[in-house]
Amino acid sequence: MKVYICADMEGATGIVHRDQLMPDGGPAYAAGCALLTADVLATCEGAIEAGATEILISEGHAHMRNIAIEALPPQARLVRGPAQWPQKPLCQIAGLDERFDVALFVGFHSRAGTPGGLLSHTWAGAIVHEITVNGRIVGETAINALICGSMGVPVGMVAGADDLCAEARADLQDCGPVELVCTKETLGFNLAACHGPRFTGPALRRAAASACRLAATGQLRPLVVEGTVTATLETHRREMADRMMLATPGLRRDGQRRVLAEAGRADEALSMLWRAVTEAFHEPQAWLR
Ligand SMILES: [Zn+2]
Repeated sequence: MKVYICADMEGATGIVHRDQLMPDGGPAYAAGCALLTADVLATCEGAIEAGATEILISEGHAHMRNIAIEALPPQARLVRGPAQWPQKPLCQIAGLDERFDVALFVGFHSRAGTPGGLLSHTWAGAIVHEITVNGRIVGETAINALICGSMGVPVGMVAGADDLCAEARADLQDCGPVELVCTKETLGFNLAACHGPRFTGPALRRAAASACRLAATGQLRPLVVEGTVTATLETHRREMADRMMLATPGLRRDGQRRVLAEAGRADEALSMLWRAVTEAFHEPQAWLR
């Protein structure tokens, strides 16, 4: 069994603040990386227990080099490196193809605009106000599930704070009994009641094993959009949409601050939007603002 893990960081065990999330956070960032690594390792162990023979982990946070590779089991490989266009046309999802049996999302966070959400944003907080796919507002959970779905791969587990779990439950309601792991209870943008790794480790292991068994027995369905896919992205400022239009072939304007991508598959439409976002980047810290 081939298992794909996409690892963001905001929803990982014990993470609540920017200083744990960015390399300039010093010792707090190093501790954050250790917490994320423990979550990813527990997820790998659960997958292996349920029969995974090959695991591909895709780093999905900031500069995308946060996980301590030396901790990983021999069945796992780690995709690390920044998400600039064109080397990573699908942002957090790299190296995925139709041969994978299931995808597991670790360390995820709720979408931009989530009321009272923990570290909520979509792709790049400084740029993205809102993304929709065929009229539905989407965050990174639905975006990445749609990309996986374009390749026929179902999502079996999503882990993060309780506000993220609520979003994932709604987004993936048609996908079968997807495992949700709540790592903390959100109390504010930078505030949560966090379970420690002695709780989340076993919870992630159990959920990952269960997700792999659900996939093996055909109980999960990929998230797909039928027909033409229309994805829109609303920026915070008109100048950002201007820059996107200049640099992204095929992109259409849909109002002062909004651009629109249309394609036959969700991954193609979302890839066009990701290209537009990378074109609008100014500073690396734009990720979390
Ligand atoms: Zn992140």
